[in-house]
Amino acid sequence: MNPFNNAMEQLKRSAELIDLEKDIWERMRKPDNILQVSLPVRMDNGELKVFEGYRVQYNNSCGPYKGGIRFHPKTDLHEVKALAFWMAIKCAVAGIPYGGAKGGVTVDPKKLSIDELERLTRVFTQKLANFIGPERDIPAPDVNTNPQIMAWMVDEFSKIKGFNVPGVVTGKPLEIGGSLGRNEATGLGGFFVLQSLAKKMKLNPKKTTVAIQGFGNVGYNLAIFLHKAGYKIIAVSDSQGGILNKNGHEMNPEEIMKAKKQKGQIDGCYCRGTVCDCVNFAKVDNEKLLQLPVDVLVPAALEGAINEKNAGRIKAKIILEMANGGVTPEAEEKLNKKGVVVVPDVLANAGGVVVSYFEWVQNLQNYYWGLEEVNQKLEKIMDDSFEAVWQRKEKYQTTWRNAAFALALERIEAAMKMRE
Ligand code: NAD
Repeated sequence: MNPFNNAMEQLKRSAELIDLEKDIWERMRKPDNILQVSLPVRMDNGELKVFEGYRVQYNNSCGPYKGGIRFHPKTDLHEVKALAFWMAIKCAVAGIPYGGAKGGVTVDPKKLSIDELERLTRVFTQKLANFIGPERDIPAPDVNTNPQIMAWMVDEFSKIKGFNVPGVVTGKPLEIGGSLGRNEATGLGGFFVLQSLAKKMKLNPKKTTVAIQGFGNVGYNLAIFLHKAGYKIIAVSDSQGGILNKNGHEMNPEEIMKAKKQKGQIDGCYCRGTVCDCVNFAKVDNEKLLQLPVDVLVPAALEGAINEKNAGRIKAKIILEMANGGVTPEAEEKLNKKGVVVVPDVLANAGGVVVSYFEWVQNLQNYYWGLEEVNQKLEKIMDDSFEAVWQRKEKYQTTWRNAAFALALERIEAAMKMRE
């Protein structure tokens, strides 16, 4: 599976739908810039290892490039290109003044010591330094990267520039210019989207069952907000397996996280434990979790979780796609035919980049907002984006994804044309 081909298939569907001008379509088929770098890192045992890193800057018609950095053994250029494209679409769906970008390093960070991880991050930042910056391209965390890694990036970039530049990345720790609410923003944004959908579909949260694949930043925080609002979480999982509520014992995400954390962390960075360490529940594997007869299924791990092979066995009524590219185009076609509502990633998980935008604004102003202000502003943007996508869906009588892409392409097209 090449996620960039999937992304281009999605572009084609929406470009045809809105009769996108050929020149704009042509430009949206290729990223503006691709940077591929070698990252030599001295390991603790004295050996030198050379990792591969990427930064893809997709399009900056609406503002500076923006997008996370992923550390994962399977990360490659196709994946980073797809993720960069989706960022351009996502920022336009949210109506925030950014283009799209993404970065990645092909590495299993859980096999590095904390010192090796820091050295890798600093070398990557050195290689990126001429291509990023608050006015140019602003990275953020993604899979396996976190506030600590962002702190090293700010520090390294600031050393190179000779002055402090907090606005070069978002998702930083609060102590060095992070924003209140950023950590939970993607989950909270997804929650706002589901609440808007629940109103349209007249769903009662208290009678709505949910299964979540992935219990990291996104899956866990979404679970917290859903649980608080009374949704019934009946299964969650992570890369090591999943748990299922068979006996009616309430699934409290905080208790599950507590159990997961009991085994401690690898060098203070990554959890050693798993949701399966929470003993009150039956075990379920990741594939079975996807096939549970729930109202809402949430892929919140990696792309391609719902694909051509398993789409026919999905029983959920709604898929809230929190993972980028969580549903492949082939799978989506099957799901659409079955009448499953697929809320696309570019809307469902936009909360993260929206609060990243707030963080950047606060850094540029050197003036910091309270949590309530951040969350209220996030809610307004998520509600407005949901409504704008809904209107395109009604207008074109199409899927949620096509409607979201249509909205984004309209906005990107308008920005490109104003510059001509
Ligand atoms: P994370 O590293 O914090 O968590 C990922 C979770 O997925 C972990 O619990 C991991 O164990 C689990 N996982 C990995 N492989 C799995 C598998 N095969 N089956 C089941 N679970 C598996 O990452 P995250 O930041 O939560 O990101 C998750 C997804 O959300 C990614 O697609 C990411 O691009 C997307 N996303 C993240 C943000 C953000 O702000 N963090 C914003 C937008 C989109």
